[in-house]
Amino acid sequence: MEHCSARPFSFSQSGGFYMYKRKRIVIALGGNALGNTLPEQMMAVKTTAKALCDLIEDGHQVVVVHGNGPQVGMINNAMAALSREDASQPNTPLSVCVAMSQAYIGYDLQNALREELRKRGLVRTPVVTVVTQVRVDPDDPAFQNPSKPIGHFMSREEAEHAEKAYGYITKEDAGRGYRRVVASPKPVEIVEQDAINSLVDANKIVICCGGGGIPVTLQGDHLKGASAVIDKDFASSLLAKELGADMLIILTAVEKVAINFGKENEEWLSDLTVEEAQKYVDEGHFAAGSMLPKVQAAMDFASSGSGRTAMITLLEKARDGIQGKTGTLIHS
Ligand code: ADP
Ligand code: MG
Repeated sequence: MEHCSARPFSFSQSGGFYMYKRKRIVIALGGNALGNTLPEQMMAVKTTAKALCDLIEDGHQVVVVHGNGPQVGMINNAMAALSREDASQPNTPLSVCVAMSQAYIGYDLQNALREELRKRGLVRTPVVTVVTQVRVDPDDPAFQNPSKPIGHFMSREEAEHAEKAYGYITKEDAGRGYRRVVASPKPVEIVEQDAINSLVDANKIVICCGGGGIPVTLQGDHLKGASAVIDKDFASSLLAKELGADMLIILTAVEKVAINFGKENEEWLSDLTVEEAQKYVDEGHFAAGSMLPKVQAAMDFASSGSGRTAMITLLEKARDGIQGKTGTLIHS
């Protein structure tokens, strides 16, 4: 057995009857891994923890990123209600709402993982959530074109009030009323990257970059929270690159990526090179805001170094996916 000192858990076992590479894997969890309400999340994390522990039990080094759409919307609405009811409570910045969602989701996930690990006899595998800030570029063009709707629907009057009182930008959303829209800039740097590296190198199970990370811009020594939401798929690709991961797995609501999705000639894809993926992106096969960022994040990671692969599949198919039995694999 041969150990690699930089990566205590990522060694290949040779000399026996088999060659087996333990991988460092960044897993990005989609909305279906967490549910939409407090009780739903409490239940969903149990299933999620089982799927993650299967990979940990197989010897893989797992780093977890998760989305936060429903949760950050819920927290944002609750904090807005607080300021409506109590005039002494100013509006809560979106960056603070993201921080709250990271801690809340991290708490449920790390608890469920701890329990599942113990059930499997892995009592000495600590789980930790890192409240993570992610630097964005204040000149990112996304700030000029806020496009991501968040929070509750408002009447026109409520929207006008929110624009005046809180500086929100609101847009009419498909005839259903007005919603706040925020920018979705690209992640530039994970501020807590060094701390995350140390924890992963020391074989702790790390949950980080939740909801894409708390968006911040650098102002001298100060990190200022930005009114934005970073796509968790892009944040996980950056994290995987910085961690020198072997694999990025994006777990979502479909087992595979399709071309002609939802049409008669729909075709599910098992294997894609970065070039093939780019061709399908250019042909418009992947919906903006859902499958497109996943495919782009997968391409970004797969083309960042030799041997790096990305996979998109269902939560309950993660283990089969790693073994090459299902999912869509994207490679260089
Ligand atoms: P998550 O919460 O995991 O980020 P999203 O809803 O944002 O999930 O994205 C996954 C969804 O993307 C799938 O459930 C599917 O409905 C949709 N989708 C759009 N285009 C495609 C495609 N070409 N192939 C597969 N799924 C697609
Ligand atoms: Mg999504």
